[in-house]
Amino acid sequence: MDKHQSFSWAVVGAGPAGIAAVGQLIDHGVDPHTIVWIDPVFKCGAFGTKWRQVPSNTLVSLFHKFFLACKAFHFEQCPPDFAFHQLPPDKTCPLYVVAEPLQWVTEQLKPQVVCVTGWVEELKLCQHNWQINLNEQSYCFKNVVLAIGAEPKMLSYPFPSTLSLDTALNPTKLAAACESHDTIAVFGSSHSAILILRNLLEHTSVQKVINFYRDPLRYAVNLGDEILFDDTGLKGTTAEWARENLEGDLPKRLTRLLVSSPDFQKYLHECTKVIYAVGFERSYLKVEGLDALTYNDKTGIIAPGLFGIGIAFPESKQNHLGIVEYRVGLWKFMDYLNKIMPIWLKYSL
Ligand SMILES: Cc1cc2nc3c(=O)[nH]c(=O)nc-3n(C[C@H](O)[C@H](O)[C@H](O)COP(=O)(O)OP(=O)(O)OC[C@H]3O[C@@H](n4cnc5c(N)ncnc54)[C@H](O)[C@@H]3O)c2cc1C
Repeated sequence: MDKHQSFSWAVVGAGPAGIAAVGQLIDHGVDPHTIVWIDPVFKCGAFGTKWRQVPSNTLVSLFHKFFLACKAFHFEQCPPDFAFHQLPPDKTCPLYVVAEPLQWVTEQLKPQVVCVTGWVEELKLCQHNWQINLNEQSYCFKNVVLAIGAEPKMLSYPFPSTLSLDTALNPTKLAAACESHDTIAVFGSSHSAILILRNLLEHTSVQKVINFYRDPLRYAVNLGDEILFDDTGLKGTTAEWARENLEGDLPKRLTRLLVSSPDFQKYLHECTKVIYAVGFERSYLKVEGLDALTYNDKTGIIAPGLFGIGIAFPESKQNHLGIVEYRVGLWKFMDYLNKIMPIWLKYSL
């Protein structure tokens, strides 16, 4: 490869959002040889690596819609022996079952575009191009799509030991990380937090679990034409478990406490390990000339020729009651890209 190369598009990140962006660019007629796709491992992002053991919060039918939305995915040729094809469309499933065809789609896309394995440290503007230096090469682009994902937020209570979210969301890893004398603090009341409470109670023998929360539990409810709290409410088997176990008498080993309670410090000091399930923040990427990567949440535009998609740059949507939520999920990324790709194609540097 030459030391300096020019391309029309870069897509940074090969999680579900990066996969969707590459597919949409090709489907919209961008010459695949002018698209560079960058990721350190090409393993379907956090979806395919960290959250594999998590039960999905979306129905199988929505994953099907995602896979069929891009011609460039060639999904009609996907091997029929994947477990995914046997799943009932109106049910949820473990994410590893979806990660398998998602990895297959990645392998279909990789040879169509220019793939570069690596981690982008910085993006610079240089002579009307976005410039990325990677693996001792310099690449110039008219447009860059950031599909860089997000990291779990942390709080900073002084604990001896913090368990990571990916450990806590994997029952086998969690059981290995806990001991029977442990009292585990779980912060949060989101979908992930409730999954973790369930994992701790069903898959470990820890002495006690204390759930510190700020807000009451929130459930997604199908209203017919839309889903109330679609992006922030508990869904599927997690919602069922929460209704059964958390609304009334709690399981024997579980205590729930508002963080504003006067007993907060006392309970906190009982804990030997902590898990934070308090949301996500965009992965860091330095862009010269831009302080924060603020973006327009209706178009994904960050700057001319610079766009964001996925959990790092979600679309905001207002429902008919005026409630605004950020849309996160495979089908939602694809649906959003369907609307905004024609705009991106006109908003080049
Ligand atoms: C616990 C959990 C459960 C979920 N369940 C569902 C579900 O059931 N259904 C659903 O539709 N969605 C679900 N989601 C939401 C969403 O689909 C996932 O979070 C998904 O992984 C987001 O995809 P992404 O591509 O935006 O980010 P990621 O999957 O995080 O991928 C980002 C990629 O970009 C790469 N990257 C980042 N920075 C750089 C850089 N500087 N240079 C090069 N590469 C970089 C990373 O290595 C990674 O490969 C869930 C999310 C969570 C947290």
